[in-house]
Amino acid sequence: MSALLDGCTAIARGAWEGGASFAAGYPGSPVTGVLDATAGYPEIRRQWAANEKIALETALGAAWSGARALVVMKHVGLNVAADPLYNAPYTGVRGALVIVVGDDPGASSSQNEQDTRLVAKAAGVPVLEPSSVAEALVFTRLAFEISARHDLPVIVRVTTPIAYGSTGAVAGARWPVPAAAGHARPIQKYLLLPAFVPARHTALIERLSALGASPAARWFCETSLPPAAAAGTRHPVGIVCAGFPAAAVRELCADTVPVLTLGLVHPLPEAPIRAFAQHCERLLVVEESSHYLEDAIRALGLPVARRSHYDGVGSFGPKQLLSDEAPVVNALVQPLIDAAEQRRRHIPILAPRTPGFCAGCSHRGIFSLLAKRDLYVVGDIGCNTLGAIQPYGALHANLCMGASISVLQGYLAALGPDAAQRTIAVLGDSTFFHSGLPAILSAVHNGLPGTVLVLDNAGSAMTGHQQTAHARDAEGWRTLLGALGVPDVRVVDALDLGELDAALDAALATDALSVVVLKGDCVQSLPRKGPTNYRYTVRTDACSGCGDCLKVDCPAIVQLAASAAGGPRKVAITHECIGCGLCSQTCPEHAIVPRTVQTVSPRLARLLAPLPWRRLIRGLRGVAPVRRLLDRFETETY
Ligand code: SF4
Ligand code: SF4
Repeated sequence: MSALLDGCTAIARGAWEGGASFAAGYPGSPVTGVLDATAGYPEIRRQWAANEKIALETALGAAWSGARALVVMKHVGLNVAADPLYNAPYTGVRGALVIVVGDDPGASSSQNEQDTRLVAKAAGVPVLEPSSVAEALVFTRLAFEISARHDLPVIVRVTTPIAYGSTGAVAGARWPVPAAAGHARPIQKYLLLPAFVPARHTALIERLSALGASPAARWFCETSLPPAAAAGTRHPVGIVCAGFPAAAVRELCADTVPVLTLGLVHPLPEAPIRAFAQHCERLLVVEESSHYLEDAIRALGLPVARRSHYDGVGSFGPKQLLSDEAPVVNALVQPLIDAAEQRRRHIPILAPRTPGFCAGCSHRGIFSLLAKRDLYVVGDIGCNTLGAIQPYGALHANLCMGASISVLQGYLAALGPDAAQRTIAVLGDSTFFHSGLPAILSAVHNGLPGTVLVLDNAGSAMTGHQQTAHARDAEGWRTLLGALGVPDVRVVDALDLGELDAALDAALATDALSVVVLKGDCVQSLPRKGPTNYRYTVRTDACSGCGDCLKVDCPAIVQLAASAAGGPRKVAITHECIGCGLCSQTCPEHAIVPRTVQTVSPRLARLLAPLPWRRLIRGLRGVAPVRRLLDRFETETY
């Protein structure tokens, strides 16, 4: 059956066809959609883990029981999972274990461009690298077979264009696989005591070289030879490629230049590469993210041409094929580059847009307050990084998941406890549970002070609001942090500026470790229409055009054209408003009021304008009959 599939859905399908009965992962672009897509297969039991290490260990446990298990993470997540990743090849997998890793050349949504192939080689894990969505399905299915036959975990490495691309793919049936069979034995294989390690290391080396020399390794090599080369004439250059660039190379060059596409990139299928090299004077290696393949092929003693415009930085483009030592390839590629340049000159370029928080985002309040304070803010991974962008400019460094708390501890250890008055850590709730928890334990254990802000928007918002671990409610946070030994815990409304400011003052004035949890659900998880949003509007006659509300930088607030008589430009609120109430708290003229009130009676709105609307609505909505009444008003006046 042929179907139009995106890369993530194709991989999920491949896992199902390959017999997976368990899947785990931690969300991260570009492969979050893989675990989401496994939801369509009732035979696969799936779960989001608190972090990638736990996901991999859980999947390995399932594989040790004899099941076929899938685990999904992005490239930097593989670093978090490095401990089990390096040990799993020693023990073997018993059932089957496939690790889908999404690399991000060009770092469109990541903090680095690392190449998973380098990590996999160091860990002794085989890597399959599909060059299309259709191959992503087939390779994932076959990865389970390789894993089961060679008793090794297998990585399927995809990059952003394959994960997010869509093409036709052939979907097949699910392979019959044995059910989980109980506990793994003997201990000489599954218990990594020092006495057993050398034998396991030897076994790993043997299994990897057996795979590299196997018929399966040859199956993953696709050679295309132009007629002259097929007839025995040596060509001046042949291209060896893998991954997403391979599809472009085949389309552009395969009629003219010998091309070898590698689907298995670790262990390297040496014999097919040597056989291909017989057809060419030298090899041009085309890949993304690093010189992994080029270095490995050069290490075989084969002549490899240098690419003039490739340093491993950024995502793939035809320019990267250019080489002073491959004029025949340059002649094929240069017209394409010139045509693209022409198009670029004639097609109007879109105005650059910076990313920013959504309208009504619960992170806006705290960053608008931090922007006014002279604080050094160590951020983390997730939506909070947008606090670095103007008009806030209120985030000064970040490193990796959960690192904000540890980096803060380092600052305080080096600069002294007084630095706690001017240095704070900010991270999201998902990141806190991912790897911030041990950092809090360490701070408590070492008796360090410091202020940590946890922006709890109830899930992993940046990747699509997956539900990883969470503390559920304010009481849950107090219980958890109290049990960890945090001396000062505050849970506040993320959209109440007065409450936030007071909590920040109190936390900074405390000598001990202080954790402030800012609760405010991600707006993308709230209904965009309907009765619960309580959108706001501007009483135009009251607006002085001072611009204070613009400082919360909400895209729903727009400046109106100046009047014919001149004067400051007033503002209006568009339908993008989600009703967070933040801008209303900043207006010195009390010109921003709930739209319902203004619609029912502008006179009443003028009289009631100074009320603390956010607190009032929140309080009233806590009473069920009043909430029903308010919801009716909101619905009927919308
Ligand atoms: S209430 Fe104000 S800040 Fe909140 S979403 Fe509406 S316009 Fe934006
Ligand atoms: S803060 Fe109030 S007065 Fe100032 S521009 Fe906004 S709505 Fe108008």
